[in-house]
Amino acid sequence: MIEHARQDPEGEPVEIDVSPSALLDLAYDAIFVWNLNTEEITLWNRGAEELYGYRREEAIGHSPHELLRTEFPDSLSEIQRAIDRTGHWEGRLVHHTRDGRPLIISSRWASRGINLAPGAVLEINTDITHRTRSDEQGALLAAIVQSSSDTIFSKTLDGIITSWNPAAERMYGYTAEEIIGKSVNLLVPGDLPGEIPTMLDRVARGERIEHHETRRVRKDGTEVSVSISVSPIQNTSGDIIGAATIARDITERVRMEEERGRLLAGEKHAREAAEWARERVSFLAAASAVLGTSLDVEATLTNLAWLAVPRVADFCTVLILDETGELRRLVAAHVDPERIALAEELERRYPPTPDSGTYRILTTGEPDMVEVITDEMLVRGARDPDHLRLMRELEIGSYISAPLVARGRILGVISLVMAESGRHYSSEDLSLVMDLARRAGTAVDNAALYTEVQEALRLREEFLSIASHELRTPLTALQLQVQLLRRQIGAGGAIPVDLSSRVVEGVERQVKRLGRLTNDLLDVSRIAAGRFELDTSRFDLGTLAEEVVARFEDELAAAGSAVEVRRTGPASGTWDRHRLDQVIANLLSNAVKYGAGRPIRVQVSADGTSACLSVSDEGHGIAEENLIRIFERFERVETVSRTAGLGLGLFIARQIVEAHGGTIRAESVPDRGSTFIVELPQ
Ligand code: ADP
Repeated sequence: MIEHARQDPEGEPVEIDVSPSALLDLAYDAIFVWNLNTEEITLWNRGAEELYGYRREEAIGHSPHELLRTEFPDSLSEIQRAIDRTGHWEGRLVHHTRDGRPLIISSRWASRGINLAPGAVLEINTDITHRTRSDEQGALLAAIVQSSSDTIFSKTLDGIITSWNPAAERMYGYTAEEIIGKSVNLLVPGDLPGEIPTMLDRVARGERIEHHETRRVRKDGTEVSVSISVSPIQNTSGDIIGAATIARDITERVRMEEERGRLLAGEKHAREAAEWARERVSFLAAASAVLGTSLDVEATLTNLAWLAVPRVADFCTVLILDETGELRRLVAAHVDPERIALAEELERRYPPTPDSGTYRILTTGEPDMVEVITDEMLVRGARDPDHLRLMRELEIGSYISAPLVARGRILGVISLVMAESGRHYSSEDLSLVMDLARRAGTAVDNAALYTEVQEALRLREEFLSIASHELRTPLTALQLQVQLLRRQIGAGGAIPVDLSSRVVEGVERQVKRLGRLTNDLLDVSRIAAGRFELDTSRFDLGTLAEEVVARFEDELAAAGSAVEVRRTGPASGTWDRHRLDQVIANLLSNAVKYGAGRPIRVQVSADGTSACLSVSDEGHGIAEENLIRIFERFERVETVSRTAGLGLGLFIARQIVEAHGGTIRAESVPDRGSTFIVELPQ
């Protein structure tokens, strides 16, 4: 129908050759005509049909107010008055469609200026429901954004801030005027430089970022923990032109979470500590059991080391001090047996130096602990590159070394090491290792005492058998002499003088011998009981030596040994005369016994502070390894047992000399003879 419209070149409408109702049908608006007096609809266009859902024939003749259930903003009479006065009214109404939907209508009424029947009103209605809603929604959204307690702002895809709500002002400290037009990077901490570009990239691709937790910087420089959601902003044609950000301050929550984490960590720590405490108790119980099972030191400590590995250590060594004061490795246990060889190599090639921790433990008796051994420490401690390589390969990360102590004596060192397991010792573990070391020390000591006791028992058995044999010899001799006399008396004849004097001499010798043996035994028991007292007086050692030698005349003659006494000046001091007589007699009688009939030399000298007496023979001599041992109780050198006595003479001599504050020692060249040297303070 529009084809019927013609226009002149100036664009002025010249003529419209269509019927009014056909024209009305062209309009989008709902247009109808009704009569003010009868309230009957007389015209109803297609727009009205479409908007309200009533067909023309359904509408014609009805009252529009009833049909559309019109709600007027003003009273209808007021509208009518306006129509009467001006022939025109304009305003908003609510109409209802055929299916009951309310519509907000912008309505214009006209009764004049157009060719209408009298009383007729042309009503042109535009549906503005949708427009009204989106306007309202816009206002609503703006109100929400303004009053929101969440920070809401928008930015371009370049990160330039374009809006900023009051909550954003409160959270970040910038006013809208200050920050709009600035880059959002202003809010980002220096250590998160890539965050904004990444986020904006994602938003530009149409993604939404939900609840991203991060940190931001306030205007005053303080940091705030935030949870951020970012959504793309689209224009009406669907292009993404920016991003809307909602941020919430989660500082408190983060703090609480951290607090909770700390509490949980504390709980975990407490749980672990309790577990470790249980483990320690059970380990110590097991260790005590192991330590009590055997008196074999090496077996016991090996078991102990393997008990510690891997429960409380990755690697365990026990070093024991031997008789010469050297540290000797007794056992080593390692979770990885192959590494024992590595540890052995380390120990062999780089033994502990006197300034090392191990020796410090031996001298101070204090434990040594390093909770964390860093590579830097290894580098510092390494003696050469190979040393460093070995230490690194062993992965030593933490260790505790403690002294094995018993009855106040340090017997060795136990070391527990953490390596490949990555575990570390702490000060709490120190008491565990000290406890373990104490128990191990006691076990080592017990084993040593046991061995000593066994040895003492063996010696006592041997001594008893020797003593009874030694005592029987003079007794048998005495018995023989007595029997000889008895036979003579029984025969009734007179006893020849030479026989009686021989018998008396024999008896005298045996009684002397018995007396000597008994005295030795008495001395030993006195020494053992700690009842060994000195009765001192001032005399010359050389004079005493000459007296003793004179007493030995017969024995020397019998053995065929000549004695030379050499005195190099006076050698007097305050000593126990009787006891030193005993010492010289013992040395001399040994020289006679073991001197093989060769010459014996006794020398006495003094320098004002000490006097020295030596007895030398040219007999078999004494093997190097026996030079110390012979001064022990019941010690005799087996090979010469035929001539040996009770093995007490030298022991008693040493006790006497030491009671005087002096020393006694033996020197010998085997097969060339021995020299016994006594030194006494003057
Ligand atoms: P005994 O009663 O056995 O002689 P001693 O205590 O006097 O006991 O001596 C201990 C041991 O020392 C002897 O058994 C002997 O083997 C050795 N001995 C002592 N004196 C000499 C010496 N002059 N020459 C060689 N061996 C000796």
